[in-house]
Amino acid sequence: MTAAPNFDAIVIGSGMSGMYQLYRLRELGLTTRVLEAGTGVGGTWYWNRYPGARFDSESYSYQFSFSKEMLDEWDWSEHFAGQPETLRYLDRVADKYDLRKDIQFRSRVKSAHWREADRQWVVGLEDGTSYSCRFLITAVGPLSAPTMPNIPGVDSFAGESCHTARWPHEPVSFVGKRVAVIGTGATGVQTIQEVAKTAKSLTVFQRTPNWCAPLLNSKIAPAEMAEIRANYPAMFQRCLETFSCFLHTPDLRKTFEVTDQEREAFWEKLYASPGFGIWLGNFSDMMTDRAANAAISDFVANKIRQRVKNQAVAEKLIPKNHGFGTRRVPMETKYFEVYNQDNVKLVDINETPIERITPTGLTTSDIEYEFDSIVFATGFDAITGSFDRIDIRGTDGQRLKDRWSHGPETYLGTMVDGFPNMLMLMGPHMALGNIPRSIEHNVDWVTDLMRHARDRKIVRIEPTPQEVKAWTDHVKELGMGNLLFEVNSWMTGVNTNVEGKQVRIVNRYSGSAPAYRARCDAVAASGYQELALAQ
Ligand code: NAP
Repeated sequence: MTAAPNFDAIVIGSGMSGMYQLYRLRELGLTTRVLEAGTGVGGTWYWNRYPGARFDSESYSYQFSFSKEMLDEWDWSEHFAGQPETLRYLDRVADKYDLRKDIQFRSRVKSAHWREADRQWVVGLEDGTSYSCRFLITAVGPLSAPTMPNIPGVDSFAGESCHTARWPHEPVSFVGKRVAVIGTGATGVQTIQEVAKTAKSLTVFQRTPNWCAPLLNSKIAPAEMAEIRANYPAMFQRCLETFSCFLHTPDLRKTFEVTDQEREAFWEKLYASPGFGIWLGNFSDMMTDRAANAAISDFVANKIRQRVKNQAVAEKLIPKNHGFGTRRVPMETKYFEVYNQDNVKLVDINETPIERITPTGLTTSDIEYEFDSIVFATGFDAITGSFDRIDIRGTDGQRLKDRWSHGPETYLGTMVDGFPNMLMLMGPHMALGNIPRSIEHNVDWVTDLMRHARDRKIVRIEPTPQEVKAWTDHVKELGMGNLLFEVNSWMTGVNTNVEGKQVRIVNRYSGSAPAYRARCDAVAASGYQELALAQ
């Protein structure tokens, strides 16, 4: 005799995927509880309140498409909206669909253990409470486990300090302050641009420069918003057809197929166009042909030389150990011009390493710096990190963290054998791309599977080891030849601040989003024959 679970489904996280999953599970009539560590919805857009945080993708292409009412009523004020506007939008979605009544806030999940006897997950919170559920849906986000740098004395600073993904809800002023920013990824770049406007002094500690490109954001006037809205069906259709669901998609030509003049003109146009075009809309061989990649890298390096007055500083800002686009390209707004300001100093910590953080600042090999504030823009234990932070145990007590110690193994990025009834949204081996577009497909697929299970009284779902191996091998093969997988970054699972994450792995699906969707849809159309389903 076994007891019924507390819930049909528990969803961990109330970011965009958790919110949408809740909405869909309610439609199925499944009892659902969302457990959320924060005090509000929004995930990434709830946590990352750092100065300058904003979309790097066109706002309208990054919203939910499932709700016609929201599309009709929500006006975006900028082509690349700032974090406050995006969070207001997500709050509005939560209000409109009364999502909060099934979301339990301030509830960080600490453990999730599978109990084979009654085919339930037992989910434990940090405060000691626990709930049981039939299906466990992780909506924990690929970039949600922030990492502090492994610098001696990191906790000893007595002034204001904060990781960008743990930014306070109250406004933080840098006016008249001596500020340090450590980290120059997409987050650091956005932060630096903003802090440089008001700080008395800003010292940027850079370990690896990144290839940044102009965002070229602008306001959206009401008439333009009406045009954008009228085009929504075509725009969402385009997102479904492009390689990574973005509005931008690679140009079919190859770099050296065109004349030198045509190539220069094309790159000039991309550099002067808003958004990710220069990264995602470039020649089709940019990420696979070394000579092509070197050529676009030279083009962007020259732009940096033109924009930074001090050529010694410009050289420090030009990446030397990886080519353009092989790491996520941070989008910037006058980022390079910041280094022309008298109040800004760039420290290359390869030349003068940070030795320790002190109560009053930090010490490099040559200088003892004093600061009022230190901003840690030091990134995330990406993709698998948010899973590792939960003690997830499947059949026979197997720990997911151990199972993935040499890299993730998944079925379609959504399931793992040995972890029955666990469904992952935006998990490893997923087509990330334009994330909301991927989320909507991923959630709809999981929802269809849940409907299938509900209608047939299926209480146990597990992929076979053979299918997990086949998908994992397929994802690894797709990565071969892509220059991105030859470079250390969160996209290859490397984080120097996390033990055991110094070796590159394939943690993301790098095929096309349409191909990924077609594969998933074929599985559903076959009645999920590849899965072991039990009543
Ligand atoms: P990140 O790209 O991983 O950058 C972290 C930075 O911190 C790097 O410059 C890294 O240097 C540095 N760092 C880490 N540990 C350090 C240490 N011990 N000492 C010195 N420096 C250290 O993280 P992120 O900037 O937060 O961005 C992560 C991702 O979030 C982005 O790639 C993007 O996908 C997403 N994001 C999106 C947006 C947007 O859409 N608007 C905005 C921000 C972020 P190394 O490079 O040498 O490791």
